[in-house]
Amino acid sequence: MSRSAIAAISLSALTHNLARLRSLAPASKLMAVVKADGYGHGLERVARALGSADAFGVAAIADGLRLRASGHKQRIVVLSGIDEPNDLAEVRRLGLDMVLHHPEQLRMLQLDPDPRPIRTWLKLDTGMHRLGFPSEQATALIATLRTISQVAADLTVMTHFANSDVPEDQSNAAQRAHFARATDPLGLPRSLANSAAICFDPASHAEWVRPGGLLYGLGLSTTQTGAALGFKPVMQLSSKLIAIQDIAAGERIGYAGTYTCPQRQRVGVVALGYGDGYPRQAGTDTPVLLRGRRSRILGRVSMDLMTIDLDAFPDAAIGDRVVLWGDELPVEEIATAAGTISYELTCGVTKRVMFLEQ
Ligand code: PLP
Repeated sequence: MSRSAIAAISLSALTHNLARLRSLAPASKLMAVVKADGYGHGLERVARALGSADAFGVAAIADGLRLRASGHKQRIVVLSGIDEPNDLAEVRRLGLDMVLHHPEQLRMLQLDPDPRPIRTWLKLDTGMHRLGFPSEQATALIATLRTISQVAADLTVMTHFANSDVPEDQSNAAQRAHFARATDPLGLPRSLANSAAICFDPASHAEWVRPGGLLYGLGLSTTQTGAALGFKPVMQLSSKLIAIQDIAAGERIGYAGTYTCPQRQRVGVVALGYGDGYPRQAGTDTPVLLRGRRSRILGRVSMDLMTIDLDAFPDAAIGDRVVLWGDELPVEEIATAAGTISYELTCGVTKRVMFLEQ
């Protein structure tokens, strides 16, 4: 089956976004977060475009392997660290940095028969309560790590914000204060800021910033799109119109007939659906772009197809390209229609979509 779904990836948008993040945090080193296959944009191509980053952040050792295999020499930080003792040999072989966030990982390091040092980022929990040691333990932990040959001398301390996209949320200042209290006496390099904190909280920049979403132009809401913050969308998702129908008034469209035509209606069928990663939750009225103008989805999105309103498009023709998100149609808007965030949409684009670099 030939499919027309295309995810066009703009490498120049990636480099623009990297430069903009650097200009917002000029005194900090930058770890480009490329986990989940570069937020769904393709790890290798994204890393190539972001090759001047000071480090890459990945979720899995396997991503570190892919980056080393593509020739990247900079630091690669495994943000979730190691899961089992055998991981340590691979971390060393690939020259990866590990995040240490749990006593079990510390035990694995202490029992490791190989004494050679691994560059380590100590993760402190300052209020998000996901990964990290309680921040009050920082001084004692660093003292312990100094006695373990498996931990390299150039330690970094880090934490992660739970609400950085809501700058007025009190928890941001509270997390920053916890972190400062725990790490001021240590004199070590520090890292706190993800994308939103880089934009909204300069006091959090410290020695290392760790942007993910905004590298790809992704904001977290329709009122706070990446574009509104000066970033360019990196992915444009589109497909083709493969059928046009005139449907009589009163007829219902698609699975479960959730949309009823109020009058005779011209309906287009686009070759893209939830099997390509488009959210099924985005139904009637979610915008699409055709010939540079907005139309809307009618009825339910199905696995391979969706139906759109062509009443205002008398010239629409089979073969026309329909944009589902991209420059003129913010992915944040589609995410809101689907009750999710833009990150989930780009991460969810499936393998059968053809990725093209622009
Ligand atoms: N740092 C850590 C530890 C993360 O888990 C993430 C992503 O979730 C990031 C940085 C990047 O966050 P964002 O994509 O919001 O910039």
